[in-house]
Amino acid sequence: MSGGTGMSGGPGGIGARRAARRDEAVRAAVEQGLLGPGTSIVGLLDVTGIRESAAALRAAFEAVTAPGTPVLHAFAVKASPLVPVVRLLHEEGIGAEVASPGELALARAAGVPPERTVLDSPAKTPDELREALTLGVAVNADNPQELERVDALMAEGTSASPLGIRVNPQIGGGSIEALSTATATSKFGVALRDEGAREWVVRAYLDRPWLTRLHAHTGSQGIPLSLMAEGVAETYALAEEINERAGRRQVDTLDIGGGLPVNFASDETTPTFADYARVLREAVPGLFDGRYGLVTEFGRSLLAEHGAVVARVEYAKSAGGRPVAVTHAGVQVATRTVYAPGAWPLRIAAYDGKGLPKQGPDVVQDVAGPACFAGDLLAVGRALPRLEQGDYAAALDTGAYYFAHHYAYNSLARPAVHGFAGRAGGGVAFATVREAQTVDEIVAEAGGEHAAALTDLAGRGGSAGS
Ligand SMILES: *Cc1c(COP(=O)(O)O)cnc(C)c1O
Repeated sequence: MSGGTGMSGGPGGIGARRAARRDEAVRAAVEQGLLGPGTSIVGLLDVTGIRESAAALRAAFEAVTAPGTPVLHAFAVKASPLVPVVRLLHEEGIGAEVASPGELALARAAGVPPERTVLDSPAKTPDELREALTLGVAVNADNPQELERVDALMAEGTSASPLGIRVNPQIGGGSIEALSTATATSKFGVALRDEGAREWVVRAYLDRPWLTRLHAHTGSQGIPLSLMAEGVAETYALAEEINERAGRRQVDTLDIGGGLPVNFASDETTPTFADYARVLREAVPGLFDGRYGLVTEFGRSLLAEHGAVVARVEYAKSAGGRPVAVTHAGVQVATRTVYAPGAWPLRIAAYDGKGLPKQGPDVVQDVAGPACFAGDLLAVGRALPRLEQGDYAAALDTGAYYFAHHYAYNSLARPAVHGFAGRAGGGVAFATVREAQTVDEIVAEAGGEHAAALTDLAGRGGSAGS
């Protein structure tokens, strides 16, 4: 690839170095036995790359904010719900955005303190709200009913939790409907343009001096930066209106969400965090003049390009004249790509049995997964060096929302995940992030302990109720 320039791409650029680290890691994984005939699929995470992205995020906002502005970058844990990943980011100065009891527990297990944690799910129960307020975790209320629950808890006593309301600026969606959070009918937040809604939000703040944050998350894969900035601008304007009517700086922090899209087409990082920070500064200069603290919630853009799932080619066959590589990576690790290939195409890299990059000539072929349905394909009609039995196929840019998001079709096991980094003296060191799921665990999680539960249940002969 030679088209990139500057920081993010081009020969010798960040993207090229990332690709070189990945190639070295695949070879080392084969050499060190993490991949082989007995271990036919593995997820790999590039620790150096993750650290670089965290540093790039911090630097991007430092470059545009007034000195001393409090900025909390909270990693959206749903993008990579793995404790060691959350811990690594915590060490890099990134907090956690969580959206379920499980994600909150993961963040706590990673050592992220409550004051660096934000809870934003659309369906928080009273118990979850109570836990968050007791811990001092920031909470963004999604809707009026949830705010009533927060009212009740606040009436019982004080909390260290910064509290806000999530709004939906309804600026419109992007190219992927299922991921568009700011459409007119999105399920998230208070829909600002609905009749009476904006006034309701303002009154909610005027009535509750403890509401000090305002939250919107309008971006996602498929949404242009300009539209994301529009959502932030609307949220900023609302905060200004609230503060003006309150006659004081009641809203002191804006949570602008995450949603920076990722380039799945090459190793070039585009857009960068710096690109987005610049677009935001142009669109909403007041956001950065030091009057507001900031919270961000990036997920995919911190992790996606630092992960690859690598799978062995079990069989290489041909059907209807087309070569088909049957691998061990399919719908269980690349669910979105398999079910919505148009929206989520993935690059595939071909490696030989020793883990070395395969050289051409390219052959148009399908790369299939192991699941028993015809659509279980990672790539269709893709030009690649021909994959043969015993080779490896790597699905790239799968560090977020892919192999850490297992889908248990065909009871396929969750693969192990390993982090890798260069060793000081040369070579690659690996660390286990998550063990592979065993067949015994699959049986246990499938109700193995309750094998006789249904046959023992009274009900044979239809005598229910007697
Ligand atoms: C999913 C989500 C994020 C992260 O989105 P990315 O596209 O992964 O950056 C941030 N905030 C909220 C509220 C979310 O639901």
